[in-house]
Amino acid sequence: MQTVADYFGSMVFDDRVMRATLSAEVYRSLKKTIDQGAQLDLSVANAVASAMKDWAVSKGATHYTHWFQPLTGITAEKHDSFITPAPDGRVIMEFSGKELIKGEPDASSFPSGGLRATFEARGYTAWDPTSYAFIKGKTLCIPTAFCSYGGDALDKKTPLLRSMEALNRQAMRILKLFGNKNVKCVRTSVGPEQEYFLVPKELYDKRKDLIYTGRTLFGAKPPKGQEMDDHYFGVIKPRVAAFMDDLNEELWKLGVLAKTEHNEVSPAQHELAPVFSTTNIATDHNQLTMEIMQKVAARHGLVCLLHEKPFAGVNGSGKHNNWSIATDKGVNLLTPGETPHENAQFLLFLCAVLKAVDDYQDLLRIAVATAGNDHRLGANEAPPAVVSVFLGDELTAILDAIENDLPYSGTKKKLLKLGVDVLPLFPKDTTDRNRTSPFAFTGNKFEFRMLGSSNSIACANIMLNSAVAESLKIYADRLEDAKDFNTALHAMIKKTIKDHKRIIFNGNGYDDAWIEEATLKRGLLNYPTTPDCMPHLMDKKNVDMLTSHGVYSEKELASRCDIMLENYCKTVVIEASTMIDMAQKQIIPAVEKYAASVARAAVSKQTLLPDIDCGYEKELVKTLSCLTAQASAKTAALKAALEKVRVASSVTEEAFAIRDGLLPAMNELRAVADEAETRTAEEFWPFPTYGELLFGVR
Ligand code: ADP
Ligand code: MG
Repeated sequence: MQTVADYFGSMVFDDRVMRATLSAEVYRSLKKTIDQGAQLDLSVANAVASAMKDWAVSKGATHYTHWFQPLTGITAEKHDSFITPAPDGRVIMEFSGKELIKGEPDASSFPSGGLRATFEARGYTAWDPTSYAFIKGKTLCIPTAFCSYGGDALDKKTPLLRSMEALNRQAMRILKLFGNKNVKCVRTSVGPEQEYFLVPKELYDKRKDLIYTGRTLFGAKPPKGQEMDDHYFGVIKPRVAAFMDDLNEELWKLGVLAKTEHNEVSPAQHELAPVFSTTNIATDHNQLTMEIMQKVAARHGLVCLLHEKPFAGVNGSGKHNNWSIATDKGVNLLTPGETPHENAQFLLFLCAVLKAVDDYQDLLRIAVATAGNDHRLGANEAPPAVVSVFLGDELTAILDAIENDLPYSGTKKKLLKLGVDVLPLFPKDTTDRNRTSPFAFTGNKFEFRMLGSSNSIACANIMLNSAVAESLKIYADRLEDAKDFNTALHAMIKKTIKDHKRIIFNGNGYDDAWIEEATLKRGLLNYPTTPDCMPHLMDKKNVDMLTSHGVYSEKELASRCDIMLENYCKTVVIEASTMIDMAQKQIIPAVEKYAASVARAAVSKQTLLPDIDCGYEKELVKTLSCLTAQASAKTAALKAALEKVRVASSVTEEAFAIRDGLLPAMNELRAVADEAETRTAEEFWPFPTYGELLFGVR
């Protein structure tokens, strides 16, 4: 029998395959490009392309594609076959170095936020040799970046790679100051935990809201939700287990390190966590994971819902972005070490993160802002929209002692001199199971928990890497000029703690009192919705920081701001239109039909038995008629709100009209419709209920 070890990565053109199929010289050049970003010359590219093609064809591939991540948030591909006509009428399979390195998809329909006039619609894709090529179906997929001819990034990978480089640059300066001579580069690594729902396909197919918007727009609360806490880590049902087995196999073949799987809090909700990897690979793999989840679900008669809030009343889905920084020698820079030097270095990196999160709270919030995620943040189930950092009591106490020149009351009770003393041993705080913090230190990494389940993790990591690079830059500038390194270091760490301790919060993030304290006493930002936060992307301090590290140009930022607001608007407008459609064509007619049948029953009863007063039927018909009248009025109000959105003169105005007018109107229509559902006989209700959807997979 084939074991996992036999087929793991079998569809990936990875280091093993490269070694086996490339000449020693070509392999060396390619490796240099991968590790150090060296230019690849065409003869090497030709050799790699040819080996890649032979390998792919031997695995049954017929096509290749440049696989990229445009600003739609999903991946894009355009397949070209390898076939080239031969003079004798047959075909040969060909793939050149030029085709490997650069592609020119006709990409005029991808969002560019004004970066690309339609007359120069042809963006180009450029191979990212740091992420391995792989075979999906019958297609060799080559991970690529996507840019306009002017060189503007039109995708999520380009700024992600730039942000990794920015962090590498600044972290290397710091490591040099600490005397780390043999480190060649620093990389950030990420392990994204992915939440999702599974519902039966035949039920999904009957709900226009799920089909058009990925979430339910109507639905009365079922008698049972998640209140028994009996789903979280519960026994996995056989049908779900079969899905997970199949999913793991597909992912493993693609080299995705799928590791942990379990049931989540809500019924029908599950999670998959991979072993962490380098950020850009983790990002590619997470995109692949989401895609494969949907494909495999279909094979099992299921639909995988990746929406942040598919059901009201039970938990939505997020993505926990576990993030850390490590050297090419495998040293995690967020792990306390054993020598005074290592400890001081650890504290400096820790402080860099604290400072980054405090200085750029807005960018972190913006990175996770979508219409879908707005339903979670601040809804007492996901971290709040206010960004804060959980450090745990022990580490907080150590920082406190350093700030105030107090003896640390841990093991040794003495003053800590950074760079001279060893940090007291502190246990990993057990309260790191605190799930309410948006940004938690969990011993050797930070867990950023505000991401939505359908989000690409690229944006969050771009902002995180850039903001930390900025802290490190400020530190390096100062330390490089310092007369006495240890004194300067100590002073700087103290100053960071003093200036940024307001961002540290170890308590319950779901508590309303915290939001009050955070905003009123600590002056932290609270942007509950996408329209609230998104315009701040263009605040001077943000533009200055991101452009100074070469992560984005100002033009690229402006285009992204527009695209993200546009996305928000389009998403909610589709939802509102779907609600109007369902209310008019399904819900109101169903309630009317039921009312008519009750009325008919009453009339025939009274014909038969004139003495009966049919009080119950009369009351019910009255209630139902009242509900349909209300539903129709609320539908009309929703249409009016939609009209207001349509006449808005800018995308920002449109977004605010949605926040203030459209979304409230949607909620009002939903409330009436859900009430009607509870009063309408089951056989009349036009689509599957919450109960059926949430408990339908057996
Ligand atoms: P838990 O959060 O349940 O304690 P783990 O800490 O083992 O579980 O891991 C959660 C996720 O964090 C996994 O995807 C794991 O690979 C990832 N992870 C662990 N260490 C690191 C690290 N140094 N950098 C980035 N991610 C990491
Ligand atoms: Mg975790």
